[in-house]
Amino acid sequence: MTDQKGILFVLSGFSGAGKGTIMKSFFEQYEGFVLSISATSREPRENEQHGVHYFFVTREQFEERIRTGNLIEYTEYQGNYYGTPRDFVVENLEKGLDVFLEIEVEGAENIRKQYPDAVTIFVSTPTPQELQKRLRGRGTNTEEQIRGRLKRAVEEAKIIDNYDYLLINDDLDECVRALYEITQTEHRRQSRNPQFDEWFRSELTQMLEAEE
Ligand code: 5GP
Repeated sequence: MTDQKGILFVLSGFSGAGKGTIMKSFFEQYEGFVLSISATSREPRENEQHGVHYFFVTREQFEERIRTGNLIEYTEYQGNYYGTPRDFVVENLEKGLDVFLEIEVEGAENIRKQYPDAVTIFVSTPTPQELQKRLRGRGTNTEEQIRGRLKRAVEEAKIIDNYDYLLINDDLDECVRALYEITQTEHRRQSRNPQFDEWFRSELTQMLEAEE
């Protein structure tokens, strides 16, 4: 008689902080969670697959999705649309699965308004120097692009305090374990188990009556 509905978890973080790697490792290790696959109008990168990393659509297709209310939230980020498909999230939460969204800060803000019960988590590197190092280490961005991402991080850092949890990605395994612990702690919140007290009292009363 404990909680039945899934929890919506939102993971945001600086570009280069390792959100994707954390999610990958997390989903390899733990069951009962699903990752929402976003729609985007950006071009696929090498190794990215439609329906696995994103649903890659044209701007026109994306705008059609906006019009039909198909997205819970969407944003324009660096010239491309990104959005969270509604049905997948709603259906899985109803089924009792925890749903993860890996989205940027504006999207997280939007989710917070619509789902006050959602749990928001911000991922950072231990230091700015480490962030710069990781962005350079990726080898996929020019120095100018890296500077752009770091400048954006200055803005994003202003709203870290809107998040419920701060996850420092120093050691990957430790970070993934900490994330799992957050999910379990959230399930134990009394407020997420609203029927437990009623159920317990009724069972207890019946038990005592039967013994009389
Ligand atoms: P990238 O192009 O590097 O895959 O993603 C750029 C940013 O968009 C990342 O911060 C990522 O978390 C964010 N993002 C991905 N999908 C969504 C989405 O559905 N909604 C929002 N608001 N942001 C998203």
